[in-house]
Amino acid sequence: MFAIFRERRRRLLRSRPVPNEWRAIIGRNLPFFERLPPNDQKELLGHVQVFLEEKRFEGCAGVEVTNEMRVTIATQACLLLLHRRTDYFPRLLTILIYPSGYIVDEERHLEGHVWEQGRKGRLGETGRAMGSMVLAWDAAKSGARDPSDGTNLVLHEFAHQLDFEDHVADGVPALGSRGDLRSWAEVMKMEFAALRAADEAGIPTLLNTYGATNPAEFFAVATEAFFERPRALRRQHPRLFAELSRFFRQEPDRFSSESELVARPAGA
Ligand SMILES: [Zn+2]
Repeated sequence: MFAIFRERRRRLLRSRPVPNEWRAIIGRNLPFFERLPPNDQKELLGHVQVFLEEKRFEGCAGVEVTNEMRVTIATQACLLLLHRRTDYFPRLLTILIYPSGYIVDEERHLEGHVWEQGRKGRLGETGRAMGSMVLAWDAAKSGARDPSDGTNLVLHEFAHQLDFEDHVADGVPALGSRGDLRSWAEVMKMEFAALRAADEAGIPTLLNTYGATNPAEFFAVATEAFFERPRALRRQHPRLFAELSRFFRQEPDRFSSESELVARPAGA
């Protein structure tokens, strides 16, 4: 019963008129938006309405949350929801915004009983049980302004949230069927191993080698490449592109601003 009520509420939110201020922010900060087909633009703005109504934003380290921050982050996050049945990142309640990268104390497992302690700079993070996400505003903004450099903090962190929707952080989001899962698992395993091997051999790769950390990071990094370098990804990793395209129900190479120069394979 509650679900029906919530869906009705969301439908109303999606049909609300979009404030001109939001359109101006999107025009300034999110060049990918105007390349989308009109129907996708409309759907995306509807999702942004729901997202901004349901998620809490908090400023940290002196940040005062502005509409520019809210709209810039929400519009990127909601790109991941287009064309799919979605519950709007249900495990995420609060987005914490820092002005820029922040330092964390970190324990890193090296081998056996050896752990390394240190202070490390970070731009963002989210966790399955956190209910929150941390984002550095400068990186969230610059990631959006260049939609084809292959790097996008917001898409990366929200891809982790999609991964959590089936309750495990394993690089496998909630897929449609067993057949989808089988094919996904096979392709991801192969591509992950290839990225690890290339990373160890020092061979340049299209995918950020941070994706070689574990399967969850691989999915997040592959999502960044899918939306930011889709033409290169389709050419160099056709099976990975196909799996992501089936999951996201999108073909971003059709509206990408990625230039042929950028799309050339590394080293060529
Ligand atoms: Zn990550």
